[in-house]
Amino acid sequence: MIVVGAGPVGSAAAHYLVCAGYNVILIDKCKFPRDKVCGDFVSPVAQNELERIGITGTVEFKKSNQIRRASVYLSKPSTDLPFSRLGKFGIWANKPFFGF
Ligand SMILES: Cc1cc2nc3c(=O)[nH]c(=O)nc-3n(C[C@H](O)[C@H](O)[C@H](O)COP(=O)(O)OP(=O)(O)OC[C@H]3O[C@@H](n4cnc5c(N)ncnc54)[C@H](O)[C@@H]3O)c2cc1C
Repeated sequence: MIVVGAGPVGSAAAHYLVCAGYNVILIDKCKFPRDKVCGDFVSPVAQNELERIGITGTVEFKKSNQIRRASVYLSKPSTDLPFSRLGKFGIWANKPFFGF
């Protein structure tokens, strides 16, 4: 099986295909870590997916900074994003580790 594109979606797809027993080749036209414009924010929901893949337990992942509060300032008063309802904090990703 060949997966073209090694961004978050292609990488996750390749992971699950390998888990399902397929021989997988993951290819990308870019060299990784690629220089991609990004806010480097990993939401609590995205972290759940990374946890399923087994990334959150790694030493490199734990170098990421935790974000416990975020607010949107469109007008006063500001609106807090509901992190606590999701039961997790966000993180500011350790870019060289994530590479995307
Ligand atoms: C400015 C900006 C800031 C962002 N900030 C955040 C953020 O802070 N947090 C967050 O969660 N999301 C952020 N995003 C969104 C996030 O980048 C995307 O949701 C995510 O990258 C989508 O993943 P993907 O795998 O679908 O696609 P991509 O990440 O675009 O990966 C596709 C890959 O396919 C490769 N490819 C394409 N065509 C070919 C080809 N013909 N042959 C070989 N390889 C090919 C590309 O090189 C690329 O590596 C941001 C997006 C932008 C534009």
